[in-house]
Amino acid sequence: MTAMSSAEDRPDLHVIDVFMMSVKCGNCDTYQTIVRFEKHPDKNTYVYECENDLCDPNVTRTLIEVPRHLDNSTRRAEELPYYSRDEEELP
Ligand SMILES: [Zn+2]
Repeated sequence: MTAMSSAEDRPDLHVIDVFMMSVKCGNCDTYQTIVRFEKHPDKNTYVYECENDLCDPNVTRTLIEVPRHLDNSTRRAEELPYYSRDEEELP
């Protein structure tokens, strides 16, 4: 008998926290700001845009998709002002 536990038995270790990541624009070389959070049945989408006059957000906008079961940021994202809870009512 061994008391050792394997990391593979710890699914909680395998999560993604988008707030720990920085999103940088390859065009203007500055960091993009999160402007929208969307919940979907199988994934969450975080939308980032350049907040300057150099880039057209329609061209440089970044969408980061995180599988819901790996997303460790949902609660925090929901507290942000740009998230509209009424936008989508999930059953
Ligand atoms: Zn840019």
